[in-house]
Amino acid sequence: MRIVLVGPPGAGKGTQAAFLAKNLSIPHISTGDLFRANISQGTELGKSAKSYMDAGELVPDSVTIGMAKDRMEQPDAANGFLLDGFPRNLSQAEALDEILQAADLSLDAVLDLEVEEDEVVKRIAGRRTCRKDSAHVFHVTYAPPKAEGVCDHCGGELYQRGDDSEDTVRNRLSVYHAETEPIIDYYKAQGLVSTIPALGEVAEITRRAMEALKK
Ligand code: ADP
Ligand code: AMP
Repeated sequence: MRIVLVGPPGAGKGTQAAFLAKNLSIPHISTGDLFRANISQGTELGKSAKSYMDAGELVPDSVTIGMAKDRMEQPDAANGFLLDGFPRNLSQAEALDEILQAADLSLDAVLDLEVEEDEVVKRIAGRRTCRKDSAHVFHVTYAPPKAEGVCDHCGGELYQRGDDSEDTVRNRLSVYHAETEPIIDYYKAQGLVSTIPALGEVAEITRRAMEALKK
């Protein structure tokens, strides 16, 4: 299956993607994780993305679309993928359609994780991310690691992402409303969207998402 996960920053996309990707045996492709890996490896791509990420702005499409395309063309994504954080504006959504059409493929579903803003702010404020692999995510109260400051999965150090600071989060939320939300209507017009209420237990939200994918 080829699936897009949408939702505001902190909605739980990465958390859900980890479980859904495992259940569906498809790779979890997060453009945010790809950018962070490039930054920690000191690549040119990472250098061009960093200032935008630090400010809570979108990285330009000229950088983002090529990176996402390269990842989707890796052999492990031949039978499907779960996109998390891409597309994030209408031109990325149109580019994704073109990439898929050129390969005679299409999307199967778009899952819109719906969480109210107050909750998203609490989730982001308490989020702790692994330095070794930013797909490993915890929360100081909702999903604490077994040992404080240490990743359960790989032993990496947990830290608070710079762009999870209050000021940057405010900007990321306004960027979400202005640039990303319009893709939901774009996909609704294609009959692809399932809205998933995303407040509550992580496992219950995964169950709702799996149920929506059966339809
Ligand atoms: P996103 O990828 O959408 O930015 P994350 O998956 O990183 O969001 O989740 C943001 C924060 O909220 C993390 O600290 C995560 O542990 C926590 N979280 C995710 N899902 C839930 C949930 N259902 N209830 C409470 N906290 C959650
Ligand atoms: P995320 O890990 O999804 O919260 O993304 C963190 C940051 O990476 C965002 O605030 C953007 O600066 C950047 N980013 C991630 N995905 C994209 C995308 N599809 N387009 C542009 N910027 C992105």
